[in-house]
Amino acid sequence: MKVSHHRQLRMVKKTVLVEPLRPRGTKMMLPHGGLPEIFPPYLSDLIAQTGGPLGPIGLQFVSRPDLERRFFKSGAKDPLMEDHHEVAPGLVYKYTNGTSKGHKKHDFSYQGRALWTITRHCAAYCRFCTRGREVGIPANQETGSTAALAHTPHLLMDQINETLTFIEKEKGINEIILSGGDPMTVHPPILHYVLGKLGELQRTGRLAIVRIGTRTPVHNPLLLRDAHFQAIAQLRNPRMMIHINHELELTPQTLGVLERFRKECNAVVMSQTVLLKGVNDDVETLYNLFTKLASVGVVPYYVFQNDPVYWAQHFTVPIHRAIALWQKLRPMLSGVAATARFVIDTPNGYGKVPAPEGAGWEVNWKRGFRDFHGNWFSLTS
Ligand code: SF4
Repeated sequence: MKVSHHRQLRMVKKTVLVEPLRPRGTKMMLPHGGLPEIFPPYLSDLIAQTGGPLGPIGLQFVSRPDLERRFFKSGAKDPLMEDHHEVAPGLVYKYTNGTSKGHKKHDFSYQGRALWTITRHCAAYCRFCTRGREVGIPANQETGSTAALAHTPHLLMDQINETLTFIEKEKGINEIILSGGDPMTVHPPILHYVLGKLGELQRTGRLAIVRIGTRTPVHNPLLLRDAHFQAIAQLRNPRMMIHINHELELTPQTLGVLERFRKECNAVVMSQTVLLKGVNDDVETLYNLFTKLASVGVVPYYVFQNDPVYWAQHFTVPIHRAIALWQKLRPMLSGVAATARFVIDTPNGYGKVPAPEGAGWEVNWKRGFRDFHGNWFSLTS
């Protein structure tokens, strides 16, 4: 039986607090080696306060080996083919500007974006992580992938410099999405160096936009110190892309960090959410999440369909149900909370496609328009 969001919250509040869990570490890794069960005491407490391992936070971080191993032999490890598109250490360049070999030419020369993964570590490991093929694999183990991060847990200084040189020379790139793993787990002086260089490229006009993807504000806001904010503040108008899946992740500590990104780094703070069965796959939970995000000044940005990696199939909401859910939710949201697009990252690295917004509103030149209640009106009367 589906439990409504408010009932879920009431149940969570009434629940006798579960004892904080001790993460079981590398022995809970996936069969190929990724995603140890690691979460810091901050997150352990939050899991205990929100329903324990089967609550909406616990489900995201507590390993369930029986479910995670079920499709080991048949499922995918890199459905987005990121390793295949690596052009310099950690740099995944899929959204080329159409001038590379094999790509359709466009009428004008525009610039594209590239993803730069600089570490395979995070402050905690999400059980559904799309990069579980390498994320969380301990330093003394190789990942088996062909990417630079297969051989080193963090990019080394000469690799970082090689990629910075590539970015500077590759005129087709004007935007970098810094990711991992989680870039906020990189040693602060190295983070400072990388962001300083990217900031310089912005100032010389070589780069227009820098985004940073992170979940540290949710995993462990206490980890973020002055040095992190100072490093980010070197960028011009940084975009902080925070991965937030449930309203209960927005604790006072997390909100404090998001506020510092805005005030001290002049960042635009945006959120991305993965649709996860049992965590946030109902209209009320997503309505409350996006409304809360908008109310604290965070711009909802993407909602992702869960990628088809073998270890996370138990989290996948069937696509027809996911689209129906989205279409029901969309007209309920205020314009400032409805800024997210529901997208599916297509297999084989073909990029993102937006799911249809649905018939919450519809305009048809013959019939007129349909309002958010589903009633048709003429356009002329
Ligand atoms: S924070 Fe991101 S990269 Fe790290 S485990 Fe979670 S989803 Fe994966």
